[in-house]
Amino acid sequence: MIVLKTSRELELMREACKISAEALQVAGEAVKPGISTWEIDKIAHDFIIKQGAEPNFLGLYGFPGTACISINDEVIHGIPSKSRILKDGDIVSIDLGAKINGYNGDNAATFAVGTISADAQRLLDTTRESLYEGIKAAVAGGRIGDIGSAVQTYCEERGYGVVREYEGHGVGTKLHEDPGVPNFGTAGRGIRLLPGMTIAIEPMINQGTYKIKQLPDGWTVKTADGLLSAHFEHTVAITDNGPVILTKV
Ligand code: MG
Repeated sequence: MIVLKTSRELELMREACKISAEALQVAGEAVKPGISTWEIDKIAHDFIIKQGAEPNFLGLYGFPGTACISINDEVIHGIPSKSRILKDGDIVSIDLGAKINGYNGDNAATFAVGTISADAQRLLDTTRESLYEGIKAAVAGGRIGDIGSAVQTYCEERGYGVVREYEGHGVGTKLHEDPGVPNFGTAGRGIRLLPGMTIAIEPMINQGTYKIKQLPDGWTVKTADGLLSAHFEHTVAITDNGPVILTKV
């Protein structure tokens, strides 16, 4: 069931999304060679708690962290760990959210650790740009397929693989609501986009094949070919005046 938010509910969403965005920024600023993903997770956790909010990933479906932190060929759902130390040249995806006043925010970004290769930088830039292509397509009166088509076209034209098995989602009183928001699809197809819908758009883009594999830890998702993967996400409100990014610092 898709829940359309009133303007009052959108105001509550805004606060949750603002804290989510600030927490992602703080976590991103901590990224450097030598830090563990556990330390980054703790920084994000403590920040969210200090704002009077809850880390909404923590415990969700049993996830043990505040943030999913995924390095290099890890696509999503990496578990923070004291033994995972970032090193110069890595890329690291941080996905996290906060809940306050009963509403959720959700966002993600991939960060460079020290100096990264030109190829890695191009993957980060393209993935971020594809998110904005998807957001531009999140227009009332359009269709959910407009978003996926925009992301997919942008990335595939640049030679990248678009992950199929995981997708964006509605966000509201629950972190994961309807509708699913695929990063691939056909423009003009799928459910109608309506004012009051709040959705997380989150392209997961691979340097090589779009295919992935699941690790035995039950969480971590990696690229099937071991090449790099990037992930950028915003929570977005669809309004009569166009898409509004709620997870903006
Ligand atoms: Mg999400």
